[in-house]
Amino acid sequence: MNPEHTSRKTNLSATTTPIWMDPPPPFKADGGPLQRCDLAIVGAGITGVSLAWWLRQSGLKVILIDRRHPCAGASGRNAGFLTVGSVAHFGRVAREDGLEHAIVLRQWIAQSLGDLKDTLQTIGAQCALRACRAHSLARTPQGWQNLQNAAESMRQANLPVAQTAVDALAPLQGFLGAMTVPNEGALDPAQAVAALLQDCADTLTLRRAAVTAITPHHGAHRLHTTAGPILAERVALTVNGFGPELRPWLQARIIPRRGQAMATAPIDAHLPDLCYGTEDWAYLRQRPDKRIVIGGCRLTDPQNEVGTTDALNNTVQTAIETFLRRHLPAAAHTPITHRWSGPLGYTADDRPLVGALPDHPGLHFAGGYSGHGMAWSFIAARWLARQLTHSQPPPDLINLQRLA
Ligand SMILES: Cc1cc2nc3c(=O)[nH]c(=O)nc-3n(C[C@H](O)[C@H](O)[C@H](O)COP(=O)(O)OP(=O)(O)OC[C@H]3O[C@@H](n4cnc5c(N)ncnc54)[C@H](O)[C@@H]3O)c2cc1C
Repeated sequence: MNPEHTSRKTNLSATTTPIWMDPPPPFKADGGPLQRCDLAIVGAGITGVSLAWWLRQSGLKVILIDRRHPCAGASGRNAGFLTVGSVAHFGRVAREDGLEHAIVLRQWIAQSLGDLKDTLQTIGAQCALRACRAHSLARTPQGWQNLQNAAESMRQANLPVAQTAVDALAPLQGFLGAMTVPNEGALDPAQAVAALLQDCADTLTLRRAAVTAITPHHGAHRLHTTAGPILAERVALTVNGFGPELRPWLQARIIPRRGQAMATAPIDAHLPDLCYGTEDWAYLRQRPDKRIVIGGCRLTDPQNEVGTTDALNNTVQTAIETFLRRHLPAAAHTPITHRWSGPLGYTADDRPLVGALPDHPGLHFAGGYSGHGMAWSFIAARWLARQLTHSQPPPDLINLQRLA
């Protein structure tokens, strides 16, 4: 097969409806029949829309293409955590990547979140954005020890973290302790992306089409799509977990995995903060309408939670529900109203991949957020925008050239 010309079967189906898309936000309708552009952005999740937003004053003629609709991927299917990551996550990164890298990565995520929150506020986004704390919870002595060790690494790095007493965790039950960080947030992810898109809508054309292949064309690129060809000077792939379907180079570097989540009917209890059940890889929070959104537990069936197909996994869904009923007694009998899955893109070192693809000049990628894309994507898109407009490469630590 010619690596410059891949034509892979694209999965167009979606079978589950996340709570954020019930009903979907009012996305801008498709634009006119523009077939040529300076930049084609493939994928209208938070990364693609953020990239278009950062480029809104660049003067570039931009086409934003999605095979379904904005937020059809993980951006409309997540939990809406605006988080720099759990305390346990920091401990893992510090152990595996070194304390210095863990600190730099956390600073970048924090900057990304700050910029995203400021931008959403400035443009008046109606996306239930709010500030809160995040508790990392342990239910076993070993888990609690691990959390204490991770918190100690954070203190060494002068990062804020405090222990929260068990009785202050109500309405949660069944934990030995929690490590808590301030300055986190939550939002409705689909409404946030819709607001960003609305704010730059006049500077782009939105097309509904599946890109099936990208081939060189007289120094530019021909995008083969289900709605006809598009010629683009440059291309930004912002398809995250779907990347390997479009570029062979990404096949060994982006690992597509599936995540599961659910939402309940409103409960009669107040859960103000983000919560991580660290041993179960579970996460939960409450929406302003008092519904609980909860997800995770993918390690209960990792061998089947691969790929980008939208499908419920009964083992994982049962594990999530069991965690919910056990640790949040106020939801012990509350109906589950929504169950959904979403596509994730992981990397071997859990760091994002951002920059110019080495296998085809003019092609770029941003993704591989390893589960933290609502946090990483805004700064990743900003770095990519700088590369496109000023040929300024992203920092080495997340630049995809590290895997070339
Ligand atoms: C269940 C779950 C919970 C999560 N919770 C959180 C959380 O709370 N906080 C957090 O920070 N992160 C969370 N994440 C991760 C986060 O949602 C993602 O990292 C982030 O949304 C990725 O955004 P993206 O725009 O890069 O990709 P996506 O949102 O996946 O967008 C990719 C887009 O590309 C389109 N596309 C794909 N292939 C093609 C093609 N060939 N042609 C045209 N279009 C194409 C798709 O239709 C899709 O719209 C969660 C993920 C899941 C699945």
